[in-house]
Amino acid sequence: GSVSNLLDAKKDQIQQFIDSFDTVLADCDGVLWIENNAIPGSADTMNYFRKLGKKVFYVTNNSTKIRSDFAAKAQQLGFIASQDEILSSAYLVAHYLKGINFNKKVYLLGSNGIGEELKAVGIRHIGVGPDPVKPDFKSMPPSDLDPEIGAVVVGFDEHVSYPKLMKAASYLSSPECLFVATNTDERFPKPGSIVVPGTGTLVRAVETCSERKALVLGKPHAYVQKFLESCGLNPARTLMIGDRCNTDIEFGIRCGFQTLLVLTGVTSNKDLEKIKNEKIPPLPDVVLPKLGDLLSIVA
Ligand code: PLP
Ligand code: CA
Repeated sequence: GSVSNLLDAKKDQIQQFIDSFDTVLADCDGVLWIENNAIPGSADTMNYFRKLGKKVFYVTNNSTKIRSDFAAKAQQLGFIASQDEILSSAYLVAHYLKGINFNKKVYLLGSNGIGEELKAVGIRHIGVGPDPVKPDFKSMPPSDLDPEIGAVVVGFDEHVSYPKLMKAASYLSSPECLFVATNTDERFPKPGSIVVPGTGTLVRAVETCSERKALVLGKPHAYVQKFLESCGLNPARTLMIGDRCNTDIEFGIRCGFQTLLVLTGVTSNKDLEKIKNEKIPPLPDVVLPKLGDLLSIVA
């Protein structure tokens, strides 16, 4: 298929497009805000969708915060938002484990955001925080392992270390131990020459040393769709808005949603030209320089 730029569309075509969905799923970083700064026009547009009676969800792969923190951040930046509308990868992990009646303990290679979500559903965890490398780390005794661990969860962990990788892989050497990850984003979006490795880096490290594959619950995996089906979501009348093709747009396509790519995050205009010319999937249905353009056209 071809990607159409909504800026080239007429006002009544845009109106038609807006009428074609009644649920909006928005990626957060790169679509609504960048770090702690709102992207101009995004809040007005999301709030406009809501005024039209559309259901709104915020779908983020960021595993470092709990839902109430995301809701508070969204509100602070001008978005109408409630905790129930936040579908963060940390929450999905807790929801998943609760759904399968997991009743053991989690070894968490991740941050407190996941820890708090696990606690909220009554699941115990260990592992958050620094685990310093000792000079004799290779002779770690098996007694350092907690026999109650029944799952290893990997999310973003700024304290990742060799002992943590050893523990994660050692727990996973038991076939009954579950292996769940929040997301596999390669990098944090950051202009310039400094590369900030993303959660995918840690997931791949644990996959490599455990010789296993993680069950990944964040975008582009369709676990969110399963979750949303219970809210009566109709895929054909759902719009996924994202800034990243291999997570957001791929997720939208896998779930049968309509897809809108905006160029305020990781995908630049130049990237888009490359994607279009080489026709490399996943391609979005439509593209806009920024989400706020939608409102400027119809308002
Ligand atoms: N993971 C972490 C730890 C992040 O900090 C971010 C963005 O800030 C992301 C993932 C990507 O989040 P999103 O899916 O909202 O773009
Ligand atoms: Ca994003």
